[in-house]
Amino acid sequence: MSHADRGRGRSNAALVVTVRTDDLEGDDPLAGVRRQRRYEEAAFAASGSDYRAPAQNLLAFPGEGTGPVTASCSPGVTEADPATLLPPFVTEGIRSALPRFDRRLRGFVTREAVLVGVESRTSAPLRILGVDDGQSVSHPGLFPAGDGSGYAGGIVSSAVDGLRVAEQVVHAGRA
Ligand SMILES: Cc1cc2nc3c(=O)[nH]c(=O)nc-3n(C[C@H](O)[C@H](O)[C@H](O)COP(=O)(O)OP(=O)(O)OC[C@H]3O[C@@H](n4cnc5c(N)ncnc54)[C@H](O)[C@@H]3O)c2cc1C
Repeated sequence: MSHADRGRGRSNAALVVTVRTDDLEGDDPLAGVRRQRRYEEAAFAASGSDYRAPAQNLLAFPGEGTGPVTASCSPGVTEADPATLLPPFVTEGIRSALPRFDRRLRGFVTREAVLVGVESRTSAPLRILGVDDGQSVSHPGLFPAGDGSGYAGGIVSSAVDGLRVAEQVVHAGRA
């Protein structure tokens, strides 16, 4: 929970598109991490390799107009088309969702809105296999927990996973 006063002129939200395992190239365990790196590198290069973020006005994204390209993130943004940085199924997913969002949340698509990215993940693209009673079979004493374990995928599920694993650690200590 953030104690920020949310008093700025902008709000911040992510548009998330589901990536399935068959969207990945290769079926080795690190295929998701490779994909993440590829899009992060492309975004870095597209914005001039100086840590500014690639950004586009939300009306320009579906080709429906133009508007300002400003954002509060530091050190700033560089104009770039997300369609050149993301796989087509992701840009198509966002394009088709925007009119629906705007119908449900009137004003979501405005001249002032800016797409800033690339955000390459919401939860870990890996899962640690070989876990019995919370404990790694190959590395006893290791209790994978939370997002990085690949079994939780959000703030609450990661926190609850932490509680579950804490109980398993206590239980293993007693056994
Ligand atoms: C852009 C984005 C948006 C998201 N939006 C949402 C949302 O709206 N709702 C939601 O429920 N979830 C959201 N999530 C997912 C959520 O943030 C994570 O699932 C959750 O924070 C995972 O909690 P965690 O404690 O398991 O891991 P983390 O919060 O990642 O904590 C892991 C900690 O371990 C530290 N660490 C890593 N390696 C080491 C090391 N070797 N030594 C010591 N420390 C180390 C890290 O610095 C970090 O502090 C979002 C994630 C992202 C990236």
